[in-house]
Amino acid sequence: MFRQIFLHLSTSRVARGLTQANPLSRRMVRRFVAGEGLGDAVRVARELASRGMTVSLDPLGENVSTREEAEAATESVLSIVQAIRSAGVDSSVSIKLTQAGLDIGTEFCAANVRRMLEAAREAGVAIQIDMEGSDYTERTLAIYRELRPEHGNVGAVVQAYLRRTAADLAALCEIGGPIRLCKGAYREPAEVAFPEKAEVDANYVELAQMLLSAGARRRGVYPNIATHDERLIEWTKEHVRSEGIGKDEFEFQMLYGNRRDLQEKLAAEGYRMRVYVPFGREWYPYFMRRLAERPANVLFLVKNLLKY
Ligand SMILES: Cc1cc2nc3c(=O)[nH]c(=O)nc-3n(C[C@H](O)[C@H](O)[C@H](O)COP(=O)(O)OP(=O)(O)OC[C@H]3O[C@@H](n4cnc5c(N)ncnc54)[C@H](O)[C@@H]3O)c2cc1C
Repeated sequence: MFRQIFLHLSTSRVARGLTQANPLSRRMVRRFVAGEGLGDAVRVARELASRGMTVSLDPLGENVSTREEAEAATESVLSIVQAIRSAGVDSSVSIKLTQAGLDIGTEFCAANVRRMLEAAREAGVAIQIDMEGSDYTERTLAIYRELRPEHGNVGAVVQAYLRRTAADLAALCEIGGPIRLCKGAYREPAEVAFPEKAEVDANYVELAQMLLSAGARRRGVYPNIATHDERLIEWTKEHVRSEGIGKDEFEFQMLYGNRRDLQEKLAAEGYRMRVYVPFGREWYPYFMRRLAERPANVLFLVKNLLKY
């Protein structure tokens, strides 16, 4: 219920206007978002690198409706790639296809992503395609299937809450590439997504087993275990130990600002730890999805509002 309310608010224009204008929510956003500019993101990437972590920079923004906006988003990814190269930090870029024009046309969007991938390859940077709401799953996977054979630097994402994901992941394991497994952050009906957390967690374990299997890794899959769930992280540590999977054969991923203690602990234990670092002015829907994940974040916001 709580989660549904915040996921609903993430798409509301009125709530967006009120939240963006509020100085307190703007301040709290800084916990989850590096800042509004590319310079802020590079600064955070350097800080995390000094603590043994890599990053994926995420230029915030989604669902653009004009070709001009999609082209501007494409240009901005080209600038990010150049900034990563100049800064010499180990960073990938995470993109959303609705930012690259998926609502305008699949071919138009694929052409924009191809431009990003070509520039990124020159700079030695990988691009990972985030997974959005289930209306986009099929088209997102189709674009990945089209681009992956030509571009070794593109990766995909799958969501454990979707009922379809076991079949999607089996197909992706044939194609290879960096594949991020997350639980899923959008509002979905029960026909397409498991409504209960226990079901999502059980599916996560099954999917992680597929992703980490010897067969998948032989076909070029690089598993990205993206979660803050300590039980799943402990399960992964135990699973890789018992299967003899090296710490350099997969990576953990977490969001900037979530469980920094755990991020540092895993890096100190010698695991590969990549932090997803969002930045930019379009922070509202991302911020609402983070509030939806954890009542404590909302309590923190409310307590701060009451102080002033
Ligand atoms: C690197 C990365 C990339 C992602 N990319 C995508 C994507 O492309 N598409 C997509 O749909 N989703 C994406 N997500 C979000 C993901 O789907 C989940 O919504 C989010 O990670 C919360 O799920 P969880 O696995 O952490 O487990 P949960 O069961 O939600 O949380 C487990 C524990 O983690 C901690 N935690 C979780 N969320 C928060 C928070 N917001 N603040 C503080 N603590 C928290 C709490 O201790 C909580 O008890 C991504 C997540 C990560 C880590």
